[in-house]
Amino acid sequence: MSNLAMSCQGCNSHKFVSTDSIDPESGRRVPLYNPRRDEWNHHFRWSPDLTVIIGRTSSGRATIKKLQPNRPALINLKLLLCQTSRHPAQE
Ligand SMILES: [Zn+2]
Repeated sequence: MSNLAMSCQGCNSHKFVSTDSIDPESGRRVPLYNPRRDEWNHHFRWSPDLTVIIGRTSSGRATIKKLQPNRPALINLKLLLCQTSRHPAQE
């Protein structure tokens, strides 16, 4: 139960049961971003056009590599949501 989080099917398929992964910058195995424990803005930021998630920390980079949230279909979705002022979501 402690590893459950709301996500889309694509990200969930990439994450599966993982709780850690490799930071592509350092090559070290690190914990994945945990939305119940971690602050999103500490680990990630948006690209200037708000379509691509960029990792700020080793956990952020490992999470992006593992979940692949910058898939072309999701970038297209973010473009559409930007045009209707629904992205980025306000916390
Ligand atoms: Zn997703």
